[in-house]
Amino acid sequence: MDSDFKDRMRQKLHKLKAEVLQSLLAENDDFRAAVEDIGVKDLADVASNDIDARTLEAVGTKDKIRLQRIEAAMARLENGRFGICASCGKKIGEARMDAIPYSVMCIECQSNSERRRIHN
Ligand SMILES: [Zn+2]
Repeated sequence: MDSDFKDRMRQKLHKLKAEVLQSLLAENDDFRAAVEDIGVKDLADVASNDIDARTLEAVGTKDKIRLQRIEAAMARLENGRFGICASCGKKIGEARMDAIPYSVMCIECQSNSERRRIHN
């Protein structure tokens, strides 16, 4: 993975995270209070670990999962596992990472696991 791509992904994830947090702040008073307590300048510096688990519960599963996925992808960027499929270990295409920078599986594994979920 070239460093331009990595930089671009880092910026993208940063922006996505700030967007999710921004919408949570607008919707949820408890969440806003929790973030104000942390007192960060840049929203994307807020880590979901810093936020009280119960407050995080209250923000709704969908946003919480999205936030944690974004954070996990940021961690993978740093430890070199970014863009590697968690299921088969192959490289996930850059086009897919561009579209969904927090993808953990390649398209094949993703559709296989979705197919399994429907049948089970
Ligand atoms: Zn795969």
